[in-house]
Amino acid sequence: MIKLHDKYFKPYLSQAQIQAAVKKVATEVAKDYKDETPIFVGVLNGSFMFVADLLKEYEHPCEVSFVKLSSYSGLTSTGIVETLLDVPEDVIEGRSVIILEDIIDTGRTLKELIHLFSNTNVKEFKIATLFHKPEVYNGEYKIDYIGMDIPNKFIVGYGLDYNELGRNLKEVYQLNINTMINLVIFGKPGAGKGTQAEFLKSAYNLKHISTGDVFRYNIKNGTELGTLAKSFIDKGELVPDEVTIKMLQDEVEKNADASGFIFDGFPRTTAQAEALDTFLESKDMKIDATIALEANDEVLIQRLLERGKVSGRSDDQDEAKIRNRFDEYNEKTAPLITYYEGKDKFYSVNGIGEIAEITERIKTVIDKL
Ligand code: AMP
Repeated sequence: MIKLHDKYFKPYLSQAQIQAAVKKVATEVAKDYKDETPIFVGVLNGSFMFVADLLKEYEHPCEVSFVKLSSYSGLTSTGIVETLLDVPEDVIEGRSVIILEDIIDTGRTLKELIHLFSNTNVKEFKIATLFHKPEVYNGEYKIDYIGMDIPNKFIVGYGLDYNELGRNLKEVYQLNINTMINLVIFGKPGAGKGTQAEFLKSAYNLKHISTGDVFRYNIKNGTELGTLAKSFIDKGELVPDEVTIKMLQDEVEKNADASGFIFDGFPRTTAQAEALDTFLESKDMKIDATIALEANDEVLIQRLLERGKVSGRSDDQDEAKIRNRFDEYNEKTAPLITYYEGKDKFYSVNGIGEIAEITERIKTVIDKL
């Protein structure tokens, strides 16, 4: 998923799919025009990548020129079409013109183009578009060449923009309307759950809830909850379920307007997992995926001892406490793997490597959800 201005977009068409559509147009035009030299007229700005790639696919003599029109502002057609750049009359006079559009949706820009070219002395002109939205096209004019039909969703990339951003993307992305994603980030202490959650929360616009962080915040502020939790945390033991579950529910309630959550360090027991499912269901929400970061114990112990030097966390500084947390994990938390596998929601990710590399591995899982 990517973010442009305030909106999120998910991968929709790969480079190979786009190139197949480009090639389809090039082949069809070539069939009709190989015996003359047509002039391709690209409609700026959106068509520049399409024009470039189409010309590379077009194996016969041809010329190229551009017009510039504008009808989009933000996510919807404004209906106002302006001509900002014309093709010179003498260039197109008596010639066959193939107008190249990146996308035809409602057909408003097309109407203006037809109007523009009807008033010239061209021999004939045809309309080619890479993308076409049959659900919204008004059907007023015949479109001669279509690369591919697409649903009526806002797209960016490969020349197309959202308020000028996204034109440089090699793939086409679709506006992500249903952004509610709830993830559990899972793994032993030190697996990198918190680190990865920090990246994921901004990449997917999610609220990050780390139960460990909430406990530490409460301990620091000397709250009743903090005092209660401290005795368990200091020994590397789990805080009792009823305390933790209640606290987590409060955190979710506090963020009712979030577009999704990353649960980090929760659930850690089967009772917590079941409570989470019941609670989310009551809010018409669900866990979409549990992503487990895998790393072996020796790597984790080294990481935690290193972290202990800077974080000051007492449970990170003592190898015996760390080992106790691993024991707690193996006994109480590991059974959750089977729990989420049974729901087809468990994804294992290699948690060893560069941080950015691991983030990419996780994103690949999420983008496929
Ligand atoms: P963390 O920061 O996730 O490593 O958590 C630190 C400590 O907080 C754990 O060792 C537990 O004592 C406590 N804790 C955090 N999350 C939970 C949970 N879901 N259930 C019980 N105890 C928890």
